[in-house]
Amino acid sequence: MTATIVAHPTTASAVPDATVRTSVRVPLSFADGYATEADVMTFMGLVDGKEHLLLGLGDWRGALETARAGGEAPLMRPHSECLTGDVFGSERCDCGPQVREAVERIAETGGFLAYLRQEGRGIGLYAKLDAYALQDTGLDTYEANRAVGHADDERDYSMVAQMLGAVGADRVRLLSNNPDKASQLEDLGVHVEAQVPTGVHLTAANARYLAAKRDVTGHLLELA
Ligand SMILES: [Zn+2]
Repeated sequence: MTATIVAHPTTASAVPDATVRTSVRVPLSFADGYATEADVMTFMGLVDGKEHLLLGLGDWRGALETARAGGEAPLMRPHSECLTGDVFGSERCDCGPQVREAVERIAETGGFLAYLRQEGRGIGLYAKLDAYALQDTGLDTYEANRAVGHADDERDYSMVAQMLGAVGADRVRLLSNNPDKASQLEDLGVHVEAQVPTGVHLTAANARYLAAKRDVTGHLLELA
C-alpha cells in the first residue's frame, strides 16, 4: 500500500525564511478603555529590511495548535501603519477604529495582527499628506496618489508571509475588506481560508475615502 501525499495547494517557499528575533509581552490599553496583552515579535530576515511587527493576541499558540490539528485557521489582519489615523485619531481615514476593532476581535479567538511599516499605502508619510492636500481639491485617494507620482497602492505583503511562516502559520482567516490582500497572500504561499469583513467605520470626514475604496479597489464595504 502506498501512502498518498496530498500536496498543500500552496507552499510557504514563495518567500525567504525569516526568524523571530525577540518576543516581548506588552500590555495594551486603548482610549476607550479596552485593554489586552500582546506578544510583540520582531524578526530577522524580512525582505525589505524594515521593522515590521507581528502581535500575537489572545491564545494565539492555542489557535496555531487548533489549525495544526486540522481545525479553523487563526484570525489575522495585516494593518499598514497610519501615523495620522493610528496615533492621532485622524478622521480622514478609518485606520484607527480598524486597528482597535482588529485587536479585540483577534484577541477573542487567538491570532495575529501584522503591523506593517508602509505608511500611506506604501507611498510614505509626506507623500500621503501631499495627496491629502490634492484630495482637498477634489481628487479621490487613488487619483491623488497618482498625481503625486505613485501607484494607487504600493503595498507588498511578502513580509507578512515571512512573519507568519516564522511562527508556523501557513493558513489564516483574513480579517480585511481588501480583496488585494487576500490574493497577494495566496500568491505568497499563505492559504487564506476565509476573508472575514471588518466593521464599517463611517464618519462625515471619511465618507469619500471609504466610497473610493469600495468603488476603485473593490473593498467589501456597505456604506449607507
Ligand atoms: Zn489611515
